[in-house]
Amino acid sequence: MSVPLLDVNAQNHPLESELQAAFNQVLKHGRFIMGPEMETFEKEIAAMVGVKHALSVSSGTDALLLALMALDIRPGDEVLCPAFTFFATAGAVSRLGAVPVFTDICPICFNMDVNDARKKITARTRAIIPVHLFGQCADMDPILALAKENGLRVVEDAAQSIGSKYKNRDSGTMGDFGTYSFFPSKNLGGFGDGGMLVTNDDALAEFAKVLRNHGSKPKYYHHYVGGNFRMDTLQCALLSVKVKRYAQYTAQRQFNAAHYITELSKLPGVVQADPAHCKCVSAQDSWLAAQNARIVLPVSYAHNTHIWNQFTLRVLDNQRDSLRDHLVAKNIGCDIYYPVTLDQQQCFTGLPESSRTGCDVSHRLAGEVLSIPIYGELNEAQRNEVIAAINEWLG
Ligand SMILES: *Cc1c(COP(=O)(O)O)cnc(C)c1O
Repeated sequence: MSVPLLDVNAQNHPLESELQAAFNQVLKHGRFIMGPEMETFEKEIAAMVGVKHALSVSSGTDALLLALMALDIRPGDEVLCPAFTFFATAGAVSRLGAVPVFTDICPICFNMDVNDARKKITARTRAIIPVHLFGQCADMDPILALAKENGLRVVEDAAQSIGSKYKNRDSGTMGDFGTYSFFPSKNLGGFGDGGMLVTNDDALAEFAKVLRNHGSKPKYYHHYVGGNFRMDTLQCALLSVKVKRYAQYTAQRQFNAAHYITELSKLPGVVQADPAHCKCVSAQDSWLAAQNARIVLPVSYAHNTHIWNQFTLRVLDNQRDSLRDHLVAKNIGCDIYYPVTLDQQQCFTGLPESSRTGCDVSHRLAGEVLSIPIYGELNEAQRNEVIAAINEWLG
């Protein structure tokens, strides 16, 4: 039996009749741009995450770009973001002529190392973009405190974490702006591209709304240069069908993660990461060595609600590619998120050296990580097949 890394149809096909009804509704009224289903969907998201304003946008990438434009990030400004994330986080900064300054990450939760961020603040730093990677929030209290001390704006890249929580606050709602993505592989996966920008700030919401539509207000009068960052009515209508089931989708992923953790922990050489080692890489390394660890399982911090966009293993001792090859040979989907850190991307080699230093943990993890199937519709036989294949590899 083959187990795909993700099967979007397993979630979407059971909704066929409802999705068709939503499509027919939009076809009937014909308001394809900013039609009534857009506002309905925005309200549903705002209510779900508990935020005042939600603006649907063309993608998670454009949500980041729009957030930074609304915060007036300009050429020469510096914006802190982790080196270990999807490209868009830094790409949005760069497209405005600003400089992404890369911070290292925590080897336990894969998120921004706040102490490293603090060291990299300069007189030009304007904003900080914590990313809630793989479905778990970054440590927001110290990040928000650091931002406040230094007058920095905070944009949370919550593309992978819509609905996840940090101390009972929703990811994306703690900074000046939060951004979500509805790319099909995200937890609230759409039928094409889409995203959402959220904020509790009335003035920022209003400005972002104007910029979303070419900076035009009223129509054909442009005080600002904006863009076309709108999300289709149709996409909003289709996603409304899935929002209603989102809590269930999350619960299924959490069930799968718990099952993996219980079963994989029983295998020799497999240990779960220990949050106690969050701030000390060398202590963690000696602890892992003492246990003869070969694979490290991900962990959800006690103060977080993890939504498991990815279930990411660390494979130690340069054995990652060997495990990947083994799983691929067994027709088990897996992938490396992310093989190259952002500070090492070709397109950023022209950035000042100072923006690309001290990301050692990120580099190391890029060589260790391997994500295995975690999507909600994975069945018991499939989960067990993944576990059996890992067990076989361990020998
Ligand atoms: C997916 C993703 C984005 C971009 O979202 P798109 O909707 O694909 O443009 C940005 N940041 C992170 C961390 C992501 O995972």
